Amino acid sequence: MLTLKNIEKYYSSKQGVVQALKRINVTFTLGEFIVITGESGSGKSTLLNVMSGLDTYEQGEMLIEGKETAHYDSEAWERYRKNYIGFVFQQYNIIDAFSVYKNIALALTIQGYDPTKKHERTLELIAQVGLTSHIHHKAAQLSGGQKQRVSIARALAKDSPIIIADEPTGNLDTKNSESIVNLLHEISHNKLVIMVTHDGDLVREHATRIIRMFDGEIVEDVAKKTPTPLTEYPIYDAKPMSLRSQIGIAIKSGFATPKKTIFTLLISVFIVFAFTLTYGAYVEQSHTQQNLYHPYIMNPNPQRLIVSNRDLSVFTDAQLESIVAMRDVVSVMPVDPVLDLTLHYQTIHDRFNYEYYQSVRPLPAKLLTTRSLTEGRLPQTANEIVIEANDKHQLHDTIELAIGDDFYYDFNDPTLNKQSFTIVGMHQNNQGQWFETTYFHEDFFTNPETIFLALKAHHYIHFDLPNNQTFTLPLRDISINDTLNNDEIAISRYLLDNYDLPNGIGLLPVTVTSNTAFYDLPLNQPLSVVELTPTEPDSWRSSIQVNSEVMASWMVLQTYQVSVMVQDGFAAYRVQNQLDKTLYYSMYPADYQDDFTAIFSVIQQMFQAISSLFLLVIMYFASYLALKNVMRNKQKDYVIMRSMGASKKALNQINIIELNLIMLAAYVLVITVFIVAQYTPLNIPNYLRYFRWIDYFVVLAALLGMSGFLGIRFNRKIFSTSVITALRNGVTS
Ligand code: ADP
Ligand code: MG
Repeated sequence: MLTLKNIEKYYSSKQGVVQALKRINVTFTLGEFIVITGESGSGKSTLLNVMSGLDTYEQGEMLIEGKETAHYDSEAWERYRKNYIGFVFQQYNIIDAFSVYKNIALALTIQGYDPTKKHERTLELIAQVGLTSHIHHKAAQLSGGQKQRVSIARALAKDSPIIIADEPTGNLDTKNSESIVNLLHEISHNKLVIMVTHDGDLVREHATRIIRMFDGEIVEDVAKKTPTPLTEYPIYDAKPMSLRSQIGIAIKSGFATPKKTIFTLLISVFIVFAFTLTYGAYVEQSHTQQNLYHPYIMNPNPQRLIVSNRDLSVFTDAQLESIVAMRDVVSVMPVDPVLDLTLHYQTIHDRFNYEYYQSVRPLPAKLLTTRSLTEGRLPQTANEIVIEANDKHQLHDTIELAIGDDFYYDFNDPTLNKQSFTIVGMHQNNQGQWFETTYFHEDFFTNPETIFLALKAHHYIHFDLPNNQTFTLPLRDISINDTLNNDEIAISRYLLDNYDLPNGIGLLPVTVTSNTAFYDLPLNQPLSVVELTPTEPDSWRSSIQVNSEVMASWMVLQTYQVSVMVQDGFAAYRVQNQLDKTLYYSMYPADYQDDFTAIFSVIQQMFQAISSLFLLVIMYFASYLALKNVMRNKQKDYVIMRSMGASKKALNQINIIELNLIMLAAYVLVITVFIVAQYTPLNIPNYLRYFRWIDYFVVLAALLGMSGFLGIRFNRKIFSTSVITALRNGVTS
């Protein structure tokens, strides 16, 4: 079975080089019960370690079933250990946290034993070593003799031809020693058992051969009994552990050491929490930024989605109804330039005591629920509003708002369109913008006057001049003069000169464009230019005039474009995806970027990716420090599993799986808490509101990646020493 030829082994230590084995020549065959004796330090353990492939040798050769082993690499030795050797240590080396049953079942799992027969075989082995009554006791609670029985049962579980036992009775009293020796003898009838002991008397009657070592040499080799002649032992070629078994071991090891697992879980929860919040805040920020640089859309609220038909045709009522019916859609505004109206009110700066104009952006009160108000109620008529809570206004105050002119700031100008509103509610949705968000009743938005102002603010008029120039003006800069005829437009001398226009240039073709839309309205309605009489005020505001009928004809109101109002940015994404699949073209103003801002947003995203990564790295090192002791304790178990024949690769994977499972549990826990918190009265901000599936996935992948790296790093530590060194360095049971 085993042949050693001129084996030599050296140890180098600080004191110098020690030759632990000197030209060992010996052959062991199946069926033998070998007892090795010799004083301490004579090289017995070294010999056993070499034979069991736990330790290397410098000279000579070792043959296994007549086959050379010189070319064996560490994986081949691993396989040899797994298939041939059952090792029984003086220090037992069983897993303290596992029960008797689990320790033995583990040996079978490592062996790749058929899972359907595992339970039965475990019970059989436990019965064989007489521990049936202690089957569910934790290994830590067993006596020395019982531990050694577990250790023997575990060696038997491997169904290997060779059992090697290094002073298995060294820590036991005489009575226990005897029964262990008897047990080893019982199991030796078809195996090769090699046992080291100090106590020769104990084994004399069983041994087939007694070998005595002295100073690294075999000095005596006496045959005592003829061994049962056995030819061949069926080698059960252990299968590599399946992923399922690895996961099983990882889970069992997690549950076997609850304190360590909970500690690791807490740290993982902290990591998930910190990372998810950072990432969530980033996602939210990128979805709610309202730094709109769109030239015409003034209201980039994240609850607004602008939609038009892909062929730019007018929306039908049926279409509008089907959009309103969509999930997540709160309302549809058919005349959406009203949302782009700029309103402002006059207020006094409280510290510096000067008057300034606060800008306001209108939103439909349908987007509010009573729950979202800090005070008051929702508007019920067109002149009731809900404003952003501030210290200048109180509930029931009347507030005067100038409507529809974003550039004109003379609040006392009598021509300014001002309306009074009553504050009926306050909200706290301050998005940190320079404008305030004010919610109006839907009647406000459908009021013809509001619509007129909105269209006037956002329609532009173009005159095609005879000199091939185009003369463009916002409609709001055109004032009404009802002394003019229906085909006249009065232009001041100053402007005429400015555009090189002679007097009486005749009819000019006109086009009107709505600048909140994706469309132009061709109005082939030529107008005669007349010069404004000098008596008219020569302010730029009234330097172009038409009569009110002409103005009204420009206020074409057709629903080429609507705004779809949704609950939040996340809903906007979903609705947008839905709409884009059908015949609509949609634009999300909150995310609108021109090329210039797009660059900034790419830079911002890169920055965010880098800082997320940086956060992960910091947490990686922090958790490495925090988990170091836990891992040091785990090392013991891993070394034991290695000595039982588990491959390094499998153990690496088990450790990574265990850390990943804990991280996964922490992730599920944190996400669940976030979600559940939304249904409680607790006012916890929902940072996951803007998470898309991809975000959940990215966060999970990043976290698992991090814990994977952590596992790899711990593994490098855990497996940095050979099994035998690790065992020697105080892996005790
Ligand atoms: P035994 O098991 O018979 O008591 P060992 O095989 O443990 O003896 O040791 C044989 C010799 O090798 C001793 O002199 C011991 O000091 C030395 N030795 C064993 N292991 C090491 C080691 N890791 N480093 C240095 N010397 C060692
Ligand atoms: Mg020894």
